[in-house]
Parts: sequence; structure tokens; C-alpha cells
Amino acid sequence: MDVKSRNFIEVEIDKDLENGVYDSVMTRFPPEPNGYLHIGHAKSILLNYGLAKEYGGKFNLRFDDTNPTKEKTEFVDSIKEDVKWLGADWEDRLFFASDYFDRMYEAAVTLIKKGKAYVSELTADEMKEYRGTLTEPGKNDPSRDRSVEENLKLFEDMKNGVFADGERTLRAKVDMSSPNMNMRDPIIYRVAHMTHHNTGDKWCIYPMYDFAHPLEDAFEGISHSICTLEFEDHRPIYNWVVENVGFERPPRQIEFAKLYLNNVVTGKRYIKKLVENGTVDGWDDPRLVSIAGLRRRGYTPESIQKFVELAGVSKANSIAEMDMLEYCIREDLKSKDKRIMAVLDPVKLIIDNYPEGQTEMLTAVNNPENEELGTRQVEFGRELYIERNDFMEEPPKKYFRLFPGNEVRLMHAYFVTCTGCDKDENGNITAVHCTYDPATKQGEGQIDRKVKGTIHWVKADTAFKCEARLYENIVDEEKGVYDENGDVNVNPNSLVKMESCFVEPWLRDAKPYDSFQFVRNGFFCVDSKDSKDGAPVFNRVVSLKSSFKLPTQQ
Ligand code: ATP
Ligand code: MG
Repeated sequence: MDVKSRNFIEVEIDKDLENGVYDSVMTRFPPEPNGYLHIGHAKSILLNYGLAKEYGGKFNLRFDDTNPTKEKTEFVDSIKEDVKWLGADWEDRLFFASDYFDRMYEAAVTLIKKGKAYVSELTADEMKEYRGTLTEPGKNDPSRDRSVEENLKLFEDMKNGVFADGERTLRAKVDMSSPNMNMRDPIIYRVAHMTHHNTGDKWCIYPMYDFAHPLEDAFEGISHSICTLEFEDHRPIYNWVVENVGFERPPRQIEFAKLYLNNVVTGKRYIKKLVENGTVDGWDDPRLVSIAGLRRRGYTPESIQKFVELAGVSKANSIAEMDMLEYCIREDLKSKDKRIMAVLDPVKLIIDNYPEGQTEMLTAVNNPENEELGTRQVEFGRELYIERNDFMEEPPKKYFRLFPGNEVRLMHAYFVTCTGCDKDENGNITAVHCTYDPATKQGEGQIDRKVKGTIHWVKADTAFKCEARLYENIVDEEKGVYDENGDVNVNPNSLVKMESCFVEPWLRDAKPYDSFQFVRNGFFCVDSKDSKDGAPVFNRVVSLKSSFKLPTQQ
């Protein structure tokens, strides 16, 4: 047996296989193509895919495209890209619910023939009135006892466009007094004269979710239909549909809790609004936790897999923190990325005793945690850029960087001692001055003294100037996610563009999705949308500091 403890879904699947309820495992991810996928969906994708892999079974990607009003091919394409990128390979098992419309129609006819479905003339308002409440039973539809022949004829008329939208519905004949509202003769087909992204104008009736969804699973032979808790109350109607249509072994539905993130926007309608009012730059804005946004920001599939694994699978709702997601990407990139020098907010550093015109090449280790990444040469000279906040004229206690009289190490290079600074007429610092000690070159022999600070730099005349973008949560965490109108409280500092950064010259050739650690500043990834050849824009994926701690392992 696996030494790792098994989650409750695995325990149930084990039992079903042992008892011969199913001989093999088939799972699916069934998105509705009405928006982009987000981190919550990643959990469902990786869970379903992971189970299929674990049991040597099959995994289907199926678009639940039964509602033509909100669905678009743009979303179909983005979902495919995201699922693939996450590593869930559906191979040739790509399905569309709309490809089953003929079979679904036949299934409805089967129900009618068995006296299990009828055509209703109630309006939407009447339907509501007849439905009853949680404490009162519903009333029978006046058409409930229509003959099979009449129902068959009327359903065909519905299909043939005889009725206008809303004039007739097909209802399942279940139980108007059931305590489960979903069982009170739910509508299974409605008239809707709409063009569908896949079937065009072929249909003017469309199946409702509670009828279509279980049939899709049954048609494909899904063994375990894994879904989130809100579908628990729908399970009885799903089973009713599948059994009454004539499937002997309905898929087994198992529900788990959704993955929520604290202070994060995931709902499609909120993101849609942010996209439409221009607050964000599309569904792939790096501040969003859409899969496309995370990818563009610089998250890796491995980091999301790790996050989903840490979040675990459970029946109880819980809320994960962004800190945990950030922890996962840091862990993934810390040994993968080269550590390079990039100055985000530059000020000049002039080494007055370094000969003018002289340059030298210094050797830098690319990543001390990963020897395979090798070394590179960095050019050094008299004039450098350093971070503006690495110098202070009048430093507070415990400031160990540059201030007049203090000595620091220039990373990969020499010790320098600060001698002062130049200012413009407004008192702004325009350059910092220092002297270097040639006997302190990194990697060359013993140095007789220690310094408390090490700062990074780039050579001023050859560094590559570029833009870096720093992000914070799009949500203003102090105000909470939503305001009183249900709109997102947007953090005004969620995007800061640093437009005059200086980085090592070879980064000019960095390509979209390449990522680097900018020492002391965080992990950065080349933006895939706004970068041009020879002009990369860098997104900060995450800073280097973490407050997250892994729960201690037993
Ligand atoms: P949202 O309302 O958040 O945009 P949705 O549930 O409407 O999402 P669907 O396309 O219907 O999106 O979802 C596809 C699958 O993803 C469903 O099986 C659903 O249960 C699952 N899913 C959606 N949100 C989450 C989540 N936060 N955690 C885990 N699974 C989720
Ligand atoms: Mg949904």
C-alpha cells in the first residue's frame, strides 16, 4: 500500500474497484466555456487528471456547452491552452456536450415514452408559484398527466420551432412534494431561439444542466464524477435521469470542497467587469489568479501543482492564503533561475580611484544552489548603477549599506568605501562617490576584514535599460474584496511600472516566459504580451521574502 495517506476520494475509488462496481477509472474536467479558468479550476483539473493517472485510467476534457448565451470559442481556446499548460493531458479525449444534442433529444423522448417527462405550458412566474418552498410542497403542473402521444407531438413541435422562447418547457415527472427542490419536476428542455457556437442554428431547444450534465458523464462512461459541494443536492436528480434513461451503472458522484483564496477575486462575473471597465489588461492580467494571468506573471505549472497538493482534498470548506501560492513559486524557481544583477531604481556610483576607461570581466556564479547553471562574466568599470536606496547620507542605526565612510562589498567584485555624493540644485542625489580596494577582489585570496553589506550593481554604460512591473494584490486588502455595490475594491498600487531599470546587457535577448532571480529584488519573468524582440518587459513574479511556513510535518 501507498505509505502516503489517501484522501477520501481515493478511499472511495479503492472500494468501488475492490467491490467490482467499476473495472477501471475514468474522470473528466467539465468546464463551461463562459470565461477563463482560475486557480480554483486548477484544483479540479489536477485532481481529476491525477486520479486518472494514479489508477491507470482515462481523463476527458469535456466542454459543458449547453447554454449558448454566454459561451464563446475564445473561451474554448483559452481553456484548452490552460489545461494543457497545467500538464493535464487529455490526449484524444476532447468532447463537447453539444456533440451529444441528438442523443440528449433521444434520451428526452425515452423519458416521455416511459411517462417520465411532459410538456408544460406554465410561464416562468407560474412555475415559481407551483414549485412551493423549502417548507411547503409544490403543486402539480396542470399538464402533468398529458398523454404520452400528446407529449411526443408537443416536444417535436418544440424542436421544430413552433413555439417562441419560454412558451413551452419539457419537465421531468419526479415528485412535486420532494423535500429536495431539485426533484420537483425540474425543467429538462427549454425553447431558446439562439445560435450555438458549435451547432449553429440547428437547435432551438436546449437541455438544462441537471439533465444534460449527468447524461454527458454517462455517455462517456465516466466512472467517478468528481465535483464541488454545491452539486451534492443535485446528485439525486442526476441519478434519476441516468437510471430512467436506461443506464445500468450510473457514474458515481463524489463531492469535494472548492478551493478558495483569501482576499482574491476568482468569480467570473467580477473579473469580467474588471476586464470590461479597463481596470485590468484582459483576463490574463498578471494581477489576476486566472491561469492565464498566473502564467503571464511567471508562475509555473509545477508551482500550481505544489499549491494544489498543499491545499489538499477535503469535504470541509477552507480558505488558502496567497502566501502559500507565493511560497510554492519561490520554492520552484529558487534553484531553477539564474541570479542576475538588475537595478530597479538607479543612481550612479562613481569609483573615483578606478582608472577611467578601464574595464574588467568578473566571474559570477549563476546560482549557488544549482551548479548546473554554471557561471557568467559580468563587466565592471568606473561608473555603475546601484539602487537609490542602497545609499543614505544620514543612515539610521543598523543601516549597513553605503553612507559616507562606510565600506560594503559590490557583489562579485570589490569592497568600496563611500566618500560622499553629488546633488542637483533641488537637493536630489545625482551620483554617489566611493573608492575601491584592489586587494579585495572576490575570489582572489584572503581579505583581512569583513563588511556587513553587499549590494548589487550594473555597469552604467553597457547596462540594458528596460521596464519592470511590480505588483500587489489587485484587491485593497484593508477594505476587503467587495464594496457595498458588490464591486471589487481595487488597490491603487497594484501595478507600479519601473520604467528605467538597468539590467545586465545580455538580458536584452530574454524571451517571453524566461525567468530570472533579480538578486535582492525578487523573481522576474518576461511578459508575454508587452515585450518585443530586443525589448523585454519584466514582471515581478514574487519578492524574495516570505512569511509563509509549511505546517510542520509529523
Ligand atoms: P466560477 O463560478 O468560479 O467562475 P464555475 O464553477 O462556474 O466557476 P465551471 O466551468 O462550471 O465554472 O467549472 C468547471 C469545474 O470546475 C466544475 O466541476 C467546478 O466544480 C470546478 N470548480 C470551479 N471552481 C472551483 C474551485 N474554486 N475549486 C475547485 N473546483 C472548482
Ligand atoms: Mg458553473
